[in-house]
Amino acid sequence: MNDEQTPSGSYLSATLLCKCPRCRRGKLFKNRASINFKKNMQMNVDCPVCGQPTEIEVGFYYGTGYVSYGLAVVICMMSLVGWWLTIGLSVDDNRFFYWLAFNGVLLVCLQPWLMRLSRSFWISWFVSYDPHWKQHKPVDVSERLNADQANNW
Ligand SMILES: [Zn+2]
Repeated sequence: MNDEQTPSGSYLSATLLCKCPRCRRGKLFKNRASINFKKNMQMNVDCPVCGQPTEIEVGFYYGTGYVSYGLAVVICMMSLVGWWLTIGLSVDDNRFFYWLAFNGVLLVCLQPWLMRLSRSFWISWFVSYDPHWKQHKPVDVSERLNADQANNW
């Protein structure tokens, strides 16, 4: 079964799996998540299934810093609550500082996924799902792009 035949998932599953927001089938990224920064962040220029461009204007992914920050805050809160429920927190010992160290390591380890997820969420807010993507062409963004400035940040 190729990408075109697989049923499209929900908004959340497509976004969490880093799929194209327009068809919810094609992969946004060329490679699997990796600790190699360049390899991890290489995106397909267009969705391999529906042809949706993944960069829709110059500097499109600048805003992902806000998304990544939000995701990191959510992860910190979840890890704090998890720590509090399992190990506990107290002012009489250093358990809070152990959590700080644990949380720091956790965030560093999750960084490749956080960066990809924030791009996936970001593009999903600007490109809407088209259930009839086979009949329509993606919006032409060529005049919003500048090849000289691509990836120039
Ligand atoms: Zn697509």
